Amino acid sequence: MQLRPHTCKRLVAVILLLACQLPAFCWGFYGHRKINFLSTFLLPPEMIAFYKQHIDFISEHAVDPDKRRYAVLDEAPRHYIDIDHYGAYPYTELPRKWSEAVAKFGEDTLQTYGVVPWWIQIMQRRLTDAFKARNQVMILKLSAEIGHYISDAHVPLHACHNHNGQFSNQNGIHAFWESRIPELFAENQYDFMIGKAAYIPNVGNFIWDRVLESAAAADTVLRMEANLTRQFSPDQKYAYEERLGKITRQYSTAFSAAYQQALNGMIERRMRQSIFATASFWYTAWVDAGQPDLKALTNTKLTPEDLAEYEKLNAQWLGGKAMGKICD
Ligand SMILES: [Zn+2]
Repeated sequence: MQLRPHTCKRLVAVILLLACQLPAFCWGFYGHRKINFLSTFLLPPEMIAFYKQHIDFISEHAVDPDKRRYAVLDEAPRHYIDIDHYGAYPYTELPRKWSEAVAKFGEDTLQTYGVVPWWIQIMQRRLTDAFKARNQVMILKLSAEIGHYISDAHVPLHACHNHNGQFSNQNGIHAFWESRIPELFAENQYDFMIGKAAYIPNVGNFIWDRVLESAAAADTVLRMEANLTRQFSPDQKYAYEERLGKITRQYSTAFSAAYQQALNGMIERRMRQSIFATASFWYTAWVDAGQPDLKALTNTKLTPEDLAEYEKLNAQWLGGKAMGKICD
């Protein structure tokens, strides 16, 4: 069928309108994959060959937790903590120990406001157990996924109830910070020479410190965007530009560059710290498991059930995407 020019134009406008209404919630698939990929290179000699051999799996499956959050009810709270629900910085009202936090607030409240710092500690125990069992498939799955949660804990808006600027007329700022900016600038402008993974004596303390840093930075993330919005007209702030092969209405490159500069390297810093933390959690789990020889692992192949589960996850995610519930 041939469309007349004006019908065509209208169709394009409708498609663009739909496209720009898709919400977005994740570091961005780009950021998560990149963080896991780069974490591999911080590992010690006993680990690096194994992780490099499986670097595609580790990178690809960095995004599974975000794919799962639209299909599994309990998944979403594992990605954030609205810590400002619990008073003022440094939020001493909130016990850092899970059992004490449950006793004080009840599990329902904790789940409602997010559980990322506790969930990471559960994942770390599972990863340590997988190393102890020399279970290759589980080591790879858990390494990929813990990298995701650790990275989310480094994002300021994952530690703040106003996580998408919904209470301050800044809708969209979440994906702006963690997807749009890294996609535009990480490849050419960020320095990813990070050094070596380090052993973490207390993973609980470590991750709470990162969450507190995130919470402290959330105000700057929101304030800088609001300041710049006053300096840019709406048609300078937003533009129809290509992203992931699609033309969509989004924060313009000029506005993005100004925001990146106003934040004075914050996004690069948090990305670098995510990489360091992810590699260090992998390394710590391996050490705590007694430094098993990674050339002699068992359960080295994904089973048909594993593959079927991945297929199901993808199908659910694509279904959610088609319904406009999911970003990428
Ligand atoms: Zn996430």
